[in-house]
Amino acid sequence: MKYPAAIWVPSPNFGYPRSTHGQLASNIQKANRAGEFWHSIVGTLAAAKWRFLNMSEEASAHFLFPKIGAPTQMVDSDDAAWHSGNYLANLHFHGFEFEGGAPGNYSEPLTDNQVEWGIKVTRWLRETHNSPKIYVRRETLWEHNEVQATSCPSGRIPWARLINEWEDDIDKAEVERIVRAMQFRARPKGEKATGEHLLEEWLGSYHKHRYDAAKHGGGGIGEARSRAIAQEEDKKLKVTK
Ligand SMILES: [Zn+2]
Repeated sequence: MKYPAAIWVPSPNFGYPRSTHGQLASNIQKANRAGEFWHSIVGTLAAAKWRFLNMSEEASAHFLFPKIGAPTQMVDSDDAAWHSGNYLANLHFHGFEFEGGAPGNYSEPLTDNQVEWGIKVTRWLRETHNSPKIYVRRETLWEHNEVQATSCPSGRIPWARLINEWEDDIDKAEVERIVRAMQFRARPKGEKATGEHLLEEWLGSYHKHRYDAAKHGGGGIGEARSRAIAQEEDKKLKVTK
Protein backbone atom coordinates (compact mmCIF):
# COMPACT_ATOMS: atom_id res chain seq x y z
CA MET A 1 0.00 0.00 0.00
CA LYS A 2 1.01 3.58 -0.50
CA TYR A 3 0.74 6.12 2.29
CA PRO A 4 -1.45 8.90 0.91
CA ALA A 5 0.54 11.81 2.37
CA ALA A 6 3.95 10.51 1.24
CA ILE A 7 5.76 11.39 -1.98
CA TRP A 8 5.96 8.16 -4.03
CA VAL A 9 9.41 7.54 -5.55
CA PRO A 10 9.57 3.81 -6.35
CA SER A 11 12.83 1.90 -5.81
CA PRO A 12 13.73 -1.13 -7.98
CA ASN A 13 15.26 -2.80 -4.89
CA PHE A 14 12.68 -5.02 -3.19
CA GLY A 15 11.42 -8.61 -2.97
CA TYR A 16 13.07 -12.05 -3.16
CA PRO A 17 13.87 -12.52 -5.95
CA ARG A 18 13.97 -8.84 -6.99
CA SER A 19 10.60 -7.32 -7.91
CA THR A 20 8.49 -10.00 -6.17
CA HIS A 21 5.41 -8.28 -4.79
CA GLY A 22 3.38 -8.94 -1.65
CA GLN A 23 5.82 -10.98 0.47
CA LEU A 24 5.87 -8.70 3.50
CA ALA A 25 2.08 -8.26 3.63
CA SER A 26 1.58 -12.01 3.37
CA ASN A 27 4.13 -12.77 6.10
CA ILE A 28 2.59 -10.20 8.43
CA GLN A 29 -0.78 -11.79 7.93
CA LYS A 30 0.49 -15.36 8.40
CA ALA A 31 2.46 -14.51 11.52
CA ASN A 32 -0.07 -11.96 12.83
CA ARG A 33 2.77 -9.67 13.82
CA ALA A 34 4.61 -6.73 12.39
CA GLY A 35 7.21 -4.18 13.36
CA GLU A 36 9.57 -1.54 12.10
CA PHE A 37 13.31 -0.91 11.89
CA TRP A 38 14.15 2.75 12.54
CA HIS A 39 17.38 3.43 10.62
CA SER A 40 19.44 6.57 10.40
CA ILE A 41 20.82 7.99 7.20
CA VAL A 42 24.46 8.99 7.30
CA GLY A 43 24.03 12.43 5.77
CA THR A 44 21.29 13.78 3.55
CA LEU A 45 17.99 12.33 2.40
CA ALA A 46 18.93 13.09 -1.23
CA ALA A 47 22.00 10.81 -0.98
CA ALA A 48 19.90 7.94 0.41
CA LYS A 49 17.27 8.43 -2.27
CA TRP A 50 19.94 8.22 -4.98
CA ARG A 51 21.27 4.95 -3.48
CA PHE A 52 17.80 3.41 -3.27
CA LEU A 53 17.04 4.30 -6.90
CA ASN A 54 20.26 2.63 -8.04
CA MET A 55 19.91 -1.11 -8.76
CA SER A 56 23.56 -1.90 -8.14
CA GLU A 57 23.37 -0.46 -4.59
CA GLU A 58 20.95 -3.28 -3.66
CA ALA A 59 19.46 -1.27 -0.81
CA SER A 60 16.12 0.36 -0.06
CA ALA A 61 13.65 1.29 2.67
CA HIS A 62 9.90 1.80 2.74
CA PHE A 63 9.96 5.36 4.06
CA LEU A 64 12.47 8.22 4.20
CA PHE A 65 11.82 10.98 6.73
CA PRO A 66 13.41 14.38 6.04
CA LYS A 67 14.19 16.80 8.85
CA ILE A 68 11.55 19.14 7.43
CA GLY A 69 8.44 18.17 5.44
CA ALA A 70 6.50 15.04 4.46
CA PRO A 71 8.01 11.53 4.07
CA THR A 72 9.02 9.89 0.79
CA GLN A 73 7.87 6.32 0.17
CA MET A 74 10.12 4.15 -2.02
CA VAL A 75 8.77 0.60 -1.50
CA ASP A 76 5.11 -0.42 -1.30
CA SER A 77 4.24 -1.49 2.27
CA ASP A 78 3.14 -4.91 0.91
CA ASP A 79 6.66 -5.60 -0.39
CA ALA A 80 9.94 -6.53 1.32
CA ALA A 81 12.45 -3.67 1.23
CA TRP A 82 16.19 -4.36 1.43
CA HIS A 83 16.96 -2.35 4.56
CA SER A 84 18.34 -4.57 7.32
CA GLY A 85 21.00 -6.75 5.68
CA ASN A 86 19.06 -9.79 6.96
CA TYR A 87 16.63 -11.24 4.47
CA LEU A 88 14.35 -12.83 7.09
CA ALA A 89 14.12 -9.51 8.92
CA ASN A 90 13.37 -7.83 5.58
CA LEU A 91 10.57 -10.33 5.03
CA HIS A 92 8.94 -9.44 8.37
CA PHE A 93 9.66 -5.79 9.18
CA HIS A 94 9.15 -2.43 7.57
CA GLY A 95 12.17 -0.14 7.21
CA PHE A 96 12.30 3.59 7.98
CA GLU A 97 15.25 5.87 7.24
CA PHE A 98 15.64 9.18 9.04
CA GLU A 99 17.73 11.95 7.56
CA GLY A 100 20.83 12.58 9.64
CA GLY A 101 22.90 15.52 10.75
CA ALA A 102 25.83 17.15 9.04
CA PRO A 103 29.32 15.59 9.21
CA GLY A 104 30.50 15.68 12.81
CA ASN A 105 26.90 15.63 14.00
CA TYR A 106 25.48 12.45 12.47
CA SER A 107 23.86 11.43 15.74
CA GLU A 108 21.81 14.58 16.30
CA PRO A 109 18.34 13.81 17.73
CA LEU A 110 15.41 13.42 15.33
CA THR A 111 13.52 16.63 14.65
CA ASP A 112 9.92 17.00 15.89
CA ASN A 113 8.86 16.72 12.24
CA GLN A 114 10.57 13.32 11.94
CA VAL A 115 9.14 12.05 15.24
CA GLU A 116 5.61 13.12 14.33
CA TRP A 117 5.67 11.54 10.86
CA GLY A 118 7.30 8.39 12.26
CA ILE A 119 4.46 8.04 14.77
CA LYS A 120 1.80 8.57 12.09
CA VAL A 121 3.28 6.20 9.51
CA THR A 122 3.79 3.46 12.12
CA ARG A 123 0.17 3.77 13.18
CA TRP A 124 -0.95 3.68 9.53
CA LEU A 125 1.13 0.56 8.83
CA ARG A 126 -0.31 -1.33 11.79
CA GLU A 127 -3.85 -0.39 10.75
CA THR A 128 -3.36 -1.01 7.03
CA HIS A 129 -1.86 -4.46 7.60
CA ASN A 130 -4.25 -5.24 10.43
CA SER A 131 -1.39 -6.31 12.70
CA PRO A 132 -1.37 -6.22 16.50
CA LYS A 133 -0.64 -2.83 18.04
CA ILE A 134 2.32 -3.99 20.08
CA TYR A 135 5.03 -1.42 20.70
CA VAL A 136 7.87 -3.23 22.43
CA ARG A 137 11.53 -2.41 21.91
CA ARG A 138 13.52 -5.29 20.39
CA GLU A 139 10.30 -7.11 19.63
CA THR A 140 8.42 -4.86 17.26
CA LEU A 141 10.69 -1.79 17.29
CA TRP A 142 14.35 -2.05 16.33
CA GLU A 143 17.41 0.04 15.69
CA HIS A 144 19.66 -1.39 13.00
CA ASN A 145 22.78 -1.72 15.16
CA GLU A 146 20.87 -3.96 17.56
CA VAL A 147 20.86 -6.70 14.95
CA GLN A 148 24.23 -6.28 13.28
CA ALA A 149 27.26 -4.07 13.00
CA THR A 150 26.31 -1.09 10.85
CA SER A 151 27.37 2.46 10.20
CA CYS A 152 23.77 3.50 10.90
CA PRO A 153 24.10 6.13 13.68
CA SER A 154 22.30 5.21 16.91
CA GLY A 155 20.92 7.03 19.93
CA ARG A 156 18.84 9.50 17.92
CA ILE A 157 15.40 8.04 18.57
CA PRO A 158 13.34 9.16 21.60
CA TRP A 159 11.79 5.73 22.20
CA ALA A 160 10.07 6.60 25.49
CA ARG A 161 8.31 9.56 23.86
CA LEU A 162 7.23 7.44 20.89
CA ILE A 163 5.89 4.54 22.94
CA ASN A 164 4.07 7.00 25.17
CA GLU A 165 2.33 8.38 22.05
CA TRP A 166 1.22 4.92 20.94
CA GLU A 167 0.17 3.84 24.41
CA ASP A 168 -3.53 4.35 23.75
CA ASP A 169 -3.36 1.95 20.78
CA ILE A 170 -1.49 -0.82 22.55
CA ASP A 171 -2.89 -4.34 22.75
CA LYS A 172 -2.11 -4.68 26.45
CA ALA A 173 -2.87 -8.39 26.84
CA GLU A 174 -0.57 -9.22 23.95
CA VAL A 175 2.26 -7.12 25.40
CA GLU A 176 1.94 -8.91 28.74
CA ARG A 177 2.06 -12.26 26.97
CA ILE A 178 5.29 -11.31 25.17
CA VAL A 179 6.96 -9.94 28.27
CA ARG A 180 6.07 -13.09 30.23
CA ALA A 181 7.39 -15.32 27.46
CA MET A 182 10.65 -13.33 27.36
CA GLN A 183 11.12 -13.71 31.12
CA PHE A 184 10.67 -17.46 30.96
CA ARG A 185 13.27 -17.99 28.28
CA ALA A 186 16.13 -19.93 29.80
CA ARG A 187 19.49 -18.25 29.44
CA PRO A 188 22.85 -19.22 30.95
CA LYS A 189 23.32 -17.32 34.20
CA GLY A 190 24.59 -13.81 33.67
CA GLU A 191 24.26 -13.93 29.89
CA LYS A 192 22.56 -10.89 28.49
CA ALA A 193 20.28 -11.22 25.49
CA THR A 194 21.75 -9.42 22.50
CA GLY A 195 19.68 -7.95 19.71
CA GLU A 196 20.59 -10.89 17.50
CA HIS A 197 19.28 -13.36 20.09
CA LEU A 198 16.04 -11.47 20.42
CA LEU A 199 15.55 -11.25 16.68
CA GLU A 200 16.25 -14.98 16.35
CA GLU A 201 13.72 -15.73 19.06
CA TRP A 202 11.17 -13.53 17.37
CA LEU A 203 11.71 -15.21 14.02
CA GLY A 204 11.82 -18.61 15.76
CA SER A 205 8.37 -18.08 17.21
CA TYR A 206 7.17 -17.15 13.72
CA HIS A 207 8.55 -20.45 12.37
CA LYS A 208 6.87 -22.35 15.17
CA HIS A 209 3.62 -20.65 14.23
CA ARG A 210 4.02 -21.87 10.64
CA TYR A 211 4.93 -25.35 11.84
CA ASP A 212 1.78 -25.46 13.99
CA ALA A 213 -0.31 -24.16 11.10
CA ALA A 214 1.03 -26.92 8.83
CA LYS A 215 0.23 -29.49 11.52
CA HIS A 216 -3.33 -28.28 11.92
CA GLY A 217 -3.80 -27.79 8.19
CA GLY A 218 -2.76 -31.41 7.66
CA GLY A 219 -5.57 -32.63 9.89
CA GLY A 220 -3.41 -34.38 12.47
CA ILE A 221 -0.57 -35.50 10.19
CA GLY A 222 2.57 -36.77 11.87
CA GLU A 223 5.26 -34.56 13.32
CA ALA A 224 7.90 -35.44 10.70
CA ARG A 225 5.50 -34.62 7.87
CA SER A 226 4.44 -31.25 9.32
CA ARG A 227 8.09 -30.36 9.91
CA ALA A 228 8.81 -31.18 6.24
CA ILE A 229 5.93 -28.95 5.12
CA ALA A 230 7.17 -26.09 7.28
CA GLN A 231 10.70 -26.55 5.86
CA GLU A 232 9.32 -26.47 2.31
CA GLU A 233 7.61 -23.18 3.17
CA ASP A 234 10.91 -21.82 4.50
CA LYS A 235 12.69 -22.80 1.31
CA LYS A 236 10.22 -20.85 -0.80
CA LEU A 237 11.28 -17.73 1.07
CA LYS A 238 15.01 -18.24 0.51
CA VAL A 239 16.85 -15.51 -1.26
CA THR A 240 17.88 -16.53 -4.76
CA LYS A 241 20.29 -13.83 -5.69
ZN1 LIG B 1 20.41 0.95 8.87
